[in-house]
Amino acid sequence: MAGESVLRDLPPAAVLTALGGVEAAGSGPRRRHRRWHVAEHRGVAVRMDDWVWCCESCSVAGRGAIDLVRHVRHVGIGEACAWLRRLPEACAAAGVDHPRTHFPSRRGCGGGAPASPPPPPAPAAWGDARAYLLRRGVAAALVDAAHGAGAVYAVVPHGWTNVAFPLRGGGLAVRGIGASTYRRMYAPAGCWCWRRAPGRVVVVAESAIDALAYLGLYPDVSAAVATCGDAALKQAPSVMRELLPDGGVMMLAQDADDAGERQAEYVAAALASGGIEARRHRPPDGAKDWADLSANLPTASR
Ligand SMILES: [Zn+2]
Repeated sequence: MAGESVLRDLPPAAVLTALGGVEAAGSGPRRRHRRWHVAEHRGVAVRMDDWVWCCESCSVAGRGAIDLVRHVRHVGIGEACAWLRRLPEACAAAGVDHPRTHFPSRRGCGGGAPASPPPPPAPAAWGDARAYLLRRGVAAALVDAAHGAGAVYAVVPHGWTNVAFPLRGGGLAVRGIGASTYRRMYAPAGCWCWRRAPGRVVVVAESAIDALAYLGLYPDVSAAVATCGDAALKQAPSVMRELLPDGGVMMLAQDADDAGERQAEYVAAALASGGIEARRHRPPDGAKDWADLSANLPTASR
């Protein structure tokens, strides 16, 4: 079994990829510093020669793979080591066969996170999860309607209250509700989707919270899709066609950054034939995403 020093020094690129990270544009193998987006940890810079990393989103730094897994997955050292030991690179370092059976979620949004069953709904924690969504800028009536439809609920894994979004195909996307930026996908990866009313205009965003915030701002939009990570992106066009069987308009409300532009372009290209018009609706200047914009509107206008 790989010891802690081996785990700490596992190759950064392999660890970042397994955490679901996507390497930032302009980063590259020849650079001393490389940069990844890991879920909402949007700028994890790693100094490659000594594995010192810094999460710019959270202003947290550390050294080596164990610290990083603890930060991104919001777990203790024991759980971080157990997670790292299941990576192929750790198995290779320890000279044991890689237990492939632990990786049914290889294609998941978590990008190779070991499979574990999603936590069950925790109705007693819903009040806290609901308050978090309101703080994030989602209108109360929308939160309640989506909750009533089963499209959002609370879970309490390991004693932490999370807000949970069930995904197409049985997976679950969860995120912390405090100052924590904890975010996790339970496999299988899939899109989140909620139809609030019949209609011909649907929004697609990167996260369910952004999609809900957008619905709150645009009452004529009938349904919301969230791609929930690159792993489920390929599923998105078929979900959209299902929502708009007779054609319609798909609003591309991805974040105002490079990753958002790339996703929007992918979706627009995938929908180019088939009667659905794709329109990019980039969050306006100063807002990184639609939840950000909605949360900063005066209360009276929500
Ligand atoms: Zn972070």
